[in-house]
Amino acid sequence: MIDHRIHNFSSGPSILPREVLEQAAQELVIHPELGHSIMELSHRTPFWTAFMERTEADLRELLAIPDDYAVLFLQGGATFQFTMLPLNLVPEGGVVNMLHTGRWSQKAIAELGQLKRRAHIAASSEETQFDRIPTHHTLDEEGVYVHYVDNNTIYGTEYPAPPEVGDALLVCDASSNILSRPMDVARHGLIFAGAQKNLGPAGLTLVIIRRDLLDRATWSLPKTLHYRPIAQAHSMLNTPPVWPIYITGLVLRWLKRQGGAEVMAQRNADKAALLYQAIDETPLFEGCTTADSRSRMNVTFRLTRDALTPTFMAEAATHDLHYLKGHRSIGGCRAALYNAMPMESVQLLADFIRDFGQRHA
Ligand SMILES: *Cc1c(COP(=O)(O)O)cnc(C)c1O
Repeated sequence: MIDHRIHNFSSGPSILPREVLEQAAQELVIHPELGHSIMELSHRTPFWTAFMERTEADLRELLAIPDDYAVLFLQGGATFQFTMLPLNLVPEGGVVNMLHTGRWSQKAIAELGQLKRRAHIAASSEETQFDRIPTHHTLDEEGVYVHYVDNNTIYGTEYPAPPEVGDALLVCDASSNILSRPMDVARHGLIFAGAQKNLGPAGLTLVIIRRDLLDRATWSLPKTLHYRPIAQAHSMLNTPPVWPIYITGLVLRWLKRQGGAEVMAQRNADKAALLYQAIDETPLFEGCTTADSRSRMNVTFRLTRDALTPTFMAEAATHDLHYLKGHRSIGGCRAALYNAMPMESVQLLADFIRDFGQRHA
């Protein structure tokens, strides 16, 4: 068996806890309780039903999800929620308040147009190339909900706390920071997250939805696009994505063993502080975002001499530090520090930045 694991700073799909992968590798072939692969199991079995129930219970415990919220295990990625969410909550011609902070809000805005719903840009940081979280917004009172992206995976900004929207219904795209810190679920009407950043493999999307919103669509919707029948069928209207749910279930157990979201919040803050400090203290490097909007999950930075960027990447790779290239739309460098990223890897990257900076001063 190959035992050498590189330091994987990919922003998604991304690093998973090693002990989860080891358990999954074994149970992929023969699960000890089943005598066959976990992938060869019908989803209509007591074993699977119990696994789903436990996974949901663990998620509820980790995020302190109140009882009046349903948890849905869906497919289609976070992107599919840009479609499903307005179709369920907004009548045709209706308005959504968008807090525009980058690529993912852009895509949600574009899809609203496609669906004949209207986006009101209540706030935007586009003028400064999305280098910050906007501090003010002006809501359209007709808006059905306010959509914000808690962590901007591409630009490397993150809301320090949910935006203040008074009584307005708040919807959160938490794809790249869910369970990286505690979250006040009750302040939200709906939270969605693709699994493949901080939670598990690609193929699963979580939706946490206040139950009264399951039935907002008084208009006709295809059953597979409608939250209510999916919730009624406990996310098993049809075959659920068993493999990503299975791995996510193991990741949630791992998170509980680690001490939960509070412990993760502390560790993630420590890891981010370490890396930003190295960037700030090394003259050859600079962060891409304003200090008060910095993401703890996706650290974006660049070299002040851009021509050195390829050398930086190539040398980093010789230290097993991989996938540090910034998103193709903004360039530069980006390091993802999701829950499963160990402090030791971040320390190595910070040390390498300092060392590289000194050698190329
Ligand atoms: C990755 C990402 C998405 C898109 O996720 P898919 O699962 O690829 O559809 C949406 N929002 C955020 C914040 C993301 O990081």
